[in-house]
Amino acid sequence: MKLFECQHCGQPLYFRNTRCERCGRQLGYLPAKQTLTALEPDARGFRALAERRGRYRYCANAQYDACNWLLHVESPEQFCAVCRHNRTIPDLTIPENLINWRTIEYAKHRLFYTLLKLRLPLATRQEDPDGLAFDVLAHPADEREILSVRPIGDEDEPANQIPRSALNRIIRPRVEEILELVRDRLNASGFAPLVGRRMVLTGGGSQLTGLVEAARRVLARNVRVGRPLGIAGLPELAKGPAFATGVGLLIYPQVARMDQIEAGGAHYAMTGTGGYFARVGQWIRESF
Ligand SMILES: [Zn+2]
Ligand SMILES: [Zn+2]
Repeated sequence: MKLFECQHCGQPLYFRNTRCERCGRQLGYLPAKQTLTALEPDARGFRALAERRGRYRYCANAQYDACNWLLHVESPEQFCAVCRHNRTIPDLTIPENLINWRTIEYAKHRLFYTLLKLRLPLATRQEDPDGLAFDVLAHPADEREILSVRPIGDEDEPANQIPRSALNRIIRPRVEEILELVRDRLNASGFAPLVGRRMVLTGGGSQLTGLVEAARRVLARNVRVGRPLGIAGLPELAKGPAFATGVGLLIYPQVARMDQIEAGGAHYAMTGTGGYFARVGQWIRESF
């Protein structure tokens, strides 16, 4: 999302900011100018530094820290161009509802920012029976656990408070999509019968809650999480699935060599004491 700039001091500003961190001026979004503006209070309301004519006031939802959009002081409306589309909002006396609703409002205001830029007609239900209306309803599951998530690429922006259930709705389809890709690629490769009925997930990502169950369902195989085996004396930290791939790759040259030699009829001991294998074990023991 585009960065704005404080008209008073030049400080870069984010869409949801309500106060300039450098000069302390209050900020509001001015839809007519498609910009965030620094404000100066006077007897008639707020003067906008981005638009010298007229006086402004905040949308009524500013009191909940859910909206920073501005209206003309003379406007008969109580709510801004976005918030007036709300038909139902959850009970804001429940703190979790307030957090969830703020998150939705922020996303909705970003959506309207684009819709207004595209000059789409945005009638409310009062203006048109087919107009746009939002019913924001609380769900019992939403009230359980709230996570703090930092926006990627916007390090300075405050962390978003997101219910775990919302994050689930984002991550679960992605995970299923990846597993379906694995299944389809495996089938297309022609090696699916060789893989058999058992599959092992490795790496730190394999510890994602519910991944094994999802993989069993999508891949229709017996799936388990792999831990590093075959090297004795690993420190506790390196015994988890996150190290399975690394340890497996280190062991592989030994096994691959054995495979090749086995084809010629000879055998190789896998647990030597002085060779490559022992040196790798030594390195892992000393490194963590
Ligand atoms: Zn400023
Ligand atoms: Zn509003």
